[in-house]
Amino acid sequence: MSRTVSEQNIKEMIKRATDVRSHAYNPYYKTYVGACVMDDQGNFFEGCNVGNGVGLLDSCAEAIALGHARAKGSYTIEAIAIVGFEHELITPCGACRQRLAELAPGAKIICANIQGDYKLYSLDELLPHRYECK
Ligand SMILES: [Zn+2]
Repeated sequence: MSRTVSEQNIKEMIKRATDVRSHAYNPYYKTYVGACVMDDQGNFFEGCNVGNGVGLLDSCAEAIALGHARAKGSYTIEAIAIVGFEHELITPCGACRQRLAELAPGAKIICANIQGDYKLYSLDELLPHRYECK
């Protein structure tokens, strides 16, 4: 069952993403990101980025939030909110866009800042002509 993502849902997701961002770990690049996904039942799952001295081992907040949902048995993601900066609206990196294509292809993507400003995107807008494993 698809669920409408309301303005109230968006505000809640941005708040949760902002809150979980305080747990992010990234002493190398000092970029701290929080993400919150909402499933088709209205459940929320958060994630924050976790850096590593070996850059290839960094984990993005979106990847952790998507994995958090999956680990709890939630398979239908309706929306994801991402918060990274005070003013700039953060967007998912290329790898996370591909992760969204796999695990949340129809999700609304809420790119937000700490102030609560946001812009909504679809995956088609952020990753047109994406790779799809057949
Ligand atoms: Zn990413």
